Amino acid sequence: MKVLVLGAGVVGATTAHFLAEDGHQVKVIDRQQAAGMETSFANGAQISACHAKPWATPHVPLQAFKWMFKPDAPLLFRPWRWDPPLWSWGLKFLRNCTDQRVTTNMERTLRVALYSRAVLKALRQRTNIQYDQITRGILHIYRSAAEFEEGRATGAMLKALGLPQDVLTPQECVRLEPALAHAAKTDLAGGLLSPEDESGDAQKFTTEIAKRAAARGVEFAGGVTVKHVNASKGMITSVVTDQGEETADAFVLALGSYSARFVKALGLDLPIYPAKGYSISVELENPDAAPTMSITDESAYMVFSRLGNRLRVAGTAELAGWDTGLDPRRVAPLVRNAKSLFPTASSYTDVHPWAGLRPTTPDSVPIIGATPYANLFLNTGHGTLGWTMACGSARITADLIAGRAPEISLEGLGYQRFSGGGTEP
Ligand SMILES: Cc1cc2nc3c(=O)[nH]c(=O)nc-3n(C[C@H](O)[C@H](O)[C@H](O)COP(=O)(O)OP(=O)(O)OC[C@H]3O[C@@H](n4cnc5c(N)ncnc54)[C@H](O)[C@@H]3O)c2cc1C
Repeated sequence: MKVLVLGAGVVGATTAHFLAEDGHQVKVIDRQQAAGMETSFANGAQISACHAKPWATPHVPLQAFKWMFKPDAPLLFRPWRWDPPLWSWGLKFLRNCTDQRVTTNMERTLRVALYSRAVLKALRQRTNIQYDQITRGILHIYRSAAEFEEGRATGAMLKALGLPQDVLTPQECVRLEPALAHAAKTDLAGGLLSPEDESGDAQKFTTEIAKRAAARGVEFAGGVTVKHVNASKGMITSVVTDQGEETADAFVLALGSYSARFVKALGLDLPIYPAKGYSISVELENPDAAPTMSITDESAYMVFSRLGNRLRVAGTAELAGWDTGLDPRRVAPLVRNAKSLFPTASSYTDVHPWAGLRPTTPDSVPIIGATPYANLFLNTGHGTLGWTMACGSARITADLIAGRAPEISLEGLGYQRFSGGGTEP
């Protein structure tokens, strides 16, 4: 079968690889010249099933309101902007801010994340793909007793849903990660270890998986911009690009934060809004003083991942449209916090800032699966966890196209959950 994958981020490139393993004739198109150049470029690098808690929780609306006028706040939301897609997304987000929805959405995300982690581990064994991966788990640290208690409550929910976590004292955190010795002297209240989670460079992975896919015959066409999707009689007939028209037997939509606009005219209303996030990548001058495993600083809403001789620090979210420009006020907290946690790891003079747009759904669950168009498949809306969920959702998409039953249930993952106006029971 000829399959056209729209988008060569970590999601599209991995999907292409699995489709090629199934023997399909695959073409991937992307407006960038190479794979993994947009949101998959410099993210937090975590394979973090432990972050399956959705953004929409009962206390977030009040918290977001308090942060509205703080330019360096971890979550920045300005509803007075003229932005109808944001208002529509925001209303759906608010409907998800209940305890019941938190549990439902957490189960759905965790289902995909756990599966994806297993698919990634198997892929690594099969292909020996290398991407600065570290498989020592993810350590969540808490700077206050109250936050630690809240973290343990989330940890208990995750454990009940199948993700075990170890509760650690500050001393145990330092034993596991000696680079935390400085933090332990000041304000480390405790930690939670998610032992099976991992980290690794998503862009390196994307480049490597794209190479493997190309070796299996996948054609990557860079510098090709999708303009329009044509459909007739319940089938996609072609994709119009700035370079001409592409036809195929099946189509996969993996355009990240840009996915929704191309299927709106087809009657598919995908509530995907970009949540802009920032990262910095820092060359390490004293690697022994830098973390050797991935860390989430829960009090600062930031993640730290060691990528070879670099430290990646990522965080913050801003709901402000599709602009990817760098605001120094939002880069500064990343540098500040890295310096305070790991003061001697680097002089922090050679800092590479980056911003990307997380393709975020109101319930934090990706949109994966079939559509009313028999040959159109969705693999998008992975929000904060696109790297974590890429391998699993790629495998699912390839299974659906091959007519095989996916290995996990797709309940609650499809676009249909939004067609009733917000949530699916
Ligand atoms: C600061 C930050 C930290 C993050 N940390 C983590 C983390 O630690 N762990 C994790 O799991 N996830 C993390 N994420 C989320 C993760 O990076 C994303 O979910 C993931 O990269 C999405 O992948 P994608 O392939 O769907 O999108 P993208 O990587 O954006 O790929 C979409 C592709 O579509 C192409 N495209 C768009 N429009 C067009 C068009 N019209 N024509 C042709 N091509 C087009 C783009 O060029 C792009 O290559 C983070 C994100 C950010 C911003």
